[in-house]
Amino acid sequence: MLKFFNTLSRQQEEFQPLEEGKVRMYICGPTVWNFAHIGNFRTFVFGDILRRYLKFKGYQVTHVFNLTDIDDRIIKEAAARNISIDEFTAPYIQYFWEDFDALGNERPEVTPRATHHIPEMIAIIEKLLENGHAYESDGSIYYRIAAFPEYGKLSRIKFEGNIAGGSERVDTDKYEKEDARDFALWKLVGEGEEPGWDAPFGRGRPGWHIECSAMSMRYLGETFDIHAGGQDLQFPHHENEIAQSEGATGKLFSKYWIHSEFLKIDDVTMSKSKGNFFTFRDLWEQGYSALAIRYLLLSVPTRKQLNFTFEGLKGAESTVERLRNFRQLVKEAKVSDGTDANVAAAVSKALADFESSMDDDFNTAAALAAIHDLVREINTVLAGPGLKSEDREAVLNAIGKFDSVLGIFGPEDSESLDAEIEALVEERQAARRDRNFARSDEIRDLLAEKGIVLEDTKDGVRWKRK
Ligand SMILES: [Zn+2]
Repeated sequence: MLKFFNTLSRQQEEFQPLEEGKVRMYICGPTVWNFAHIGNFRTFVFGDILRRYLKFKGYQVTHVFNLTDIDDRIIKEAAARNISIDEFTAPYIQYFWEDFDALGNERPEVTPRATHHIPEMIAIIEKLLENGHAYESDGSIYYRIAAFPEYGKLSRIKFEGNIAGGSERVDTDKYEKEDARDFALWKLVGEGEEPGWDAPFGRGRPGWHIECSAMSMRYLGETFDIHAGGQDLQFPHHENEIAQSEGATGKLFSKYWIHSEFLKIDDVTMSKSKGNFFTFRDLWEQGYSALAIRYLLLSVPTRKQLNFTFEGLKGAESTVERLRNFRQLVKEAKVSDGTDANVAAAVSKALADFESSMDDDFNTAAALAAIHDLVREINTVLAGPGLKSEDREAVLNAIGKFDSVLGIFGPEDSESLDAEIEALVEERQAARRDRNFARSDEIRDLLAEKGIVLEDTKDGVRWKRK
């Protein structure tokens, strides 16, 4: 039974989807004004683990992950280069997906961009203006926190003495201020000034928070299951998302909230000024593999701080290497027929431990420990009495299951693929000798699916990749 910590209730809760067998989830994505750093990727890799584990548990997942392609920094940088914001963000969007894919993340079902959802934002702001949750001041539109008494229910920040006087406002678009009260939903933009969009309440551009309310509800409905993101987004961004969405619909916005903790470098907060700021590409260029970076990012449960060190990264590099070698060793092991009760029990235990760890607030550290325990035991068997055929299948099957969630074993080695193909080619030859043409054709199709083309020559059958 999957349980995890819901920031909204501050409790571990059993996961109960709104709709049987289905999960609708939203994760705040990157602002595409620069390369994403490894702290961002810690959250995004967790998002990937979350979606994969929900699928592992049998749910059909709809995962929405937005790109923030408009904000003050983007506008400023684009203006400085005298190009449009689209021209400015295009390469960063491309780099982002390259890094995202390289880290082994599955692409979410929907990856909307803020600038493509302005009409949805305008519709929410209109509702908020109609029902008194928003007001106009100097041409801009602000959210009236005094009209939403539940404000603060996610972050539990106390606002006594601050909430009254709703017209006083602090622009929190860059979320630097701690004392955030009314915040901008729509910022006035003068005639001819870009970027700007026409709205019934005047030409302007959206504040940051409104985009996530608009894009999540557009694709997931007014109420959905899980909203996740970095801890730094809890306040004010997520608090404001709730205020906007629930203020507009009068319904619960997201049932569960999950926040990923910070990543520190050598126990210090990562920052450009301290010279300890790393993007995925920085590490990649230093020769570290994407698999090792992924392993390190997921090795600590998401609600605990992760202390990133190069020693740790080197350790992750040798760990993933060991895991890959282990899978190869198991594949190539000479096996005898049958099964060994102790080995079979070890495999079952590892699978059970893996699942119970993940069920316990996505405890990836304990899930990894279950995998390493199995590796140790099977290595002992390989070095001693040897593996039995059924147990080998069970171990490889278990690795497949672990990796459907974690993605740390990496792609299969081509040598082993070659061996599999050789075996299939041989089996097809044998089937033809036995005049079992049905089986022979079946194997030819199977190989075609793997992109393998067979050629009958006078020296026998040759195969090549398409
Ligand atoms: Zn967001």
